[in-house]
Amino acid sequence: MPALIVSFLALLLVLWLLGQPYLSAARRQRIRQRPFPDAWRRVLQGLPCAAELPPELQARLQGHIQVFIADKAFIGCQGLVMNDEIRITIAAQACLLILGSSSAHYQNLREILVYPDSFVVEHEHTDSIGVEHHSRQVLAGESWERGQVVLSWHDTLAGATRTDDGYNVVIHEFAHQLDQEAGSANGAPRLPRREHYTRWSKVLGAEFERLCRVASRHEPSLFDDYGASDPAEFFAVISEAFFEQPQRMLTEHPELYRELKFFYRLDPASWLGASTLTSSQ
Ligand SMILES: [Zn+2]
Repeated sequence: MPALIVSFLALLLVLWLLGQPYLSAARRQRIRQRPFPDAWRRVLQGLPCAAELPPELQARLQGHIQVFIADKAFIGCQGLVMNDEIRITIAAQACLLILGSSSAHYQNLREILVYPDSFVVEHEHTDSIGVEHHSRQVLAGESWERGQVVLSWHDTLAGATRTDDGYNVVIHEFAHQLDQEAGSANGAPRLPRREHYTRWSKVLGAEFERLCRVASRHEPSLFDDYGASDPAEFFAVISEAFFEQPQRMLTEHPELYRELKFFYRLDPASWLGASTLTSSQ
């Protein structure tokens, strides 16, 4: 009899584990369908990156924001007190990147740490010949593989209000998060099928080399020179341009634009007239 009970409990456990993804998806769907709070709507209406999206994307954005705020912890650092303005401003920009899907939700992300302004990060590492290095950087944002994004509120707000300059720390760090869903950030986020990586690496590889050449000669480019640091930074930098300067990217880098359009399942260049993301260009 005890063996029968143990087997039964084991079966229940297996069924519970198998059912978890469906229960979680159903829970998120219920959250998406809740009425969007008026206080949150007022913050959203003040954000150019969200206020003039096409109507169907605005509705989806509100659903994603509700799930994002229900699921992720917002932690104020250095005395910064979290409020609706901070949470909605971050969530709206982060959820722009997943608007192409009705169910995406940054599955690995648990926490967003928010500093009042840029913050100092110190790293220690030992190189291949055993020499220890110490580095100190002042950052506006950082994305960690273990489910955290760190942001400067000052830079987050600047990115939310200037939507056509190609600089947006939230888009940058959340592009890293998507990249990190497929393992360490390397500029190759999860694509639908194996064969898509061939085209992705061909197009992004050629454009990365091009940016490296341009940056080394100090020539002008649509993309920030920082994108020439490595393929992961390149993906984050071109994602900023994709959402903030889509028409120029489509004109000057059409193949690259098409790869990001395929990955994000969004076409920001077509939002002209419906979105301030493009209306000021
Ligand atoms: Zn980066």
